Amino acid sequence: MPTINLNTAEVPIRESRLGSVTGYKGSAGELCRRSRDGSLKERERSFTQCATCASITAICQVAMIRDAAVVNHAPLGCAGDFGNFNFINRAGQAKRGWRLANAKLLNSNLDEQDIVFGGGGKLKDAVREAKTRFAPKVIFVTTSCASGIIGDDVAGICEEMTEELGIPVVSISCEGFRSQIWATGFDAAYHAILRRVMKPAATRRPDLINVINFWGEDIFTDLFGRLGLTPNYVVPFTTIGQLERLSEAAATVQVCSTLGTYLAAGLEEHFGVPEVKAPSPYGIAGTDAWFRELGRVTGKEAEVEVLIAEEKERIAPELAELRERLAGVRGFVSAGAVHGHSLIAILRELGMEVPGACVWHHDKRLDHGDPRGDSLQHVVTEYGEVPFSVCNKQSFELVNLLNRLRPDIFIVRHNGMAVWGAKLGIPTFLMGDEHFGLGYEGLLNYGRKILDTITNPAFVRNLARHTRLPYTEWWLSQEPFAFLGEGA
Ligand code: SF4
Repeated sequence: MPTINLNTAEVPIRESRLGSVTGYKGSAGELCRRSRDGSLKERERSFTQCATCASITAICQVAMIRDAAVVNHAPLGCAGDFGNFNFINRAGQAKRGWRLANAKLLNSNLDEQDIVFGGGGKLKDAVREAKTRFAPKVIFVTTSCASGIIGDDVAGICEEMTEELGIPVVSISCEGFRSQIWATGFDAAYHAILRRVMKPAATRRPDLINVINFWGEDIFTDLFGRLGLTPNYVVPFTTIGQLERLSEAAATVQVCSTLGTYLAAGLEEHFGVPEVKAPSPYGIAGTDAWFRELGRVTGKEAEVEVLIAEEKERIAPELAELRERLAGVRGFVSAGAVHGHSLIAILRELGMEVPGACVWHHDKRLDHGDPRGDSLQHVVTEYGEVPFSVCNKQSFELVNLLNRLRPDIFIVRHNGMAVWGAKLGIPTFLMGDEHFGLGYEGLLNYGRKILDTITNPAFVRNLARHTRLPYTEWWLSQEPFAFLGEGA
């Protein structure tokens, strides 16, 4: 049954499409069971701190398309992350040996006047300015709470500007208030690409594999090369021409289905590119399953078996040594949903204990609906139960949890959160590169990094001695999820 509807201008939010929630505490196994039997409900908090926004996640996908521009139709404050995207863009260009250039980002600067009288005129001016300054092939227009509340007809203006400028001007509906799940912003950006950028395949390339990722190191050129395949990394650092031709690929893989679920499903349903449906390629069991499914989809089963055997043999001596040294070390994991599951797999594969994990949201299902892609169930089946919680970056809950559990190491993927482990004097390891832990070599990467971190605790201990937490003793003695309601 089709699940991706490209006839609508707006992507359905994850709460309604995937049954996603932002509050849970219990075990990983119970969360999987309740996701399947329909009993899992959102649990609202009676107190929250700030979180992330879908506008940011949408922009992070389109801001680094090399020949596109982005107009953020919003008050200037919504563009607070532009500097960060520019940094990522320049770092990515440097890594690839390209000429450094700034990201092509503009903000329409909605102010009080526009909130009363409408911001359509400013949006048109900003779009024209983007065309003049950057000469892009496509202009993406991202919306905001303000543009949504005042009801600017952004989609209509984009159509008008497409006519006027002669290039696609594509609206992305990602108002922060639309969804509590900021990953909806990824879907909104992909919805726009699927609807307005991609074209049906004129030819097929049996070697080409779309790899939906953020901006990690290139590890697939080598791994896929040994299978006679070629990775096509999307969406950051692509061109509009590359995106138009995603439909030519033999398959789509994702390193994190929290990121790519919508685009991969859309590619399969509307453009006939099969999605590799498997747990994420982290930890040996997940990596085996992921490569075997890729082999099945592309007819490379024999080559995949050779690759698996070679890689396992290669890493075996160092892996055994790491397991011996890390046995029983307690690691706490915090990350986006599926990446968090993947990190648990890595830790358990290294022989470590996981006294707790906290992910930023939970999707009851993925867009393809195939249970083989259920990465949390995969972790429970392969490695056993894990105490598990879902909190959308509520620092007060995380600090309380960490303070109680006092793990030997805190492993986190988002930089705003890593500081809490360090302030508590817990050796903390921040890794933004999603490919660092991927595959067989990823296990060794993580093992070495964890060892390095736990054997050098002096800095965080010193930091903790000189830090006063913003949370009181009263709060730290409460149950960490005291403000989480019981659910509808
Ligand atoms: S779109 Fe809304 S939630 Fe997002 S940054 Fe702007 S005001 Fe904040």
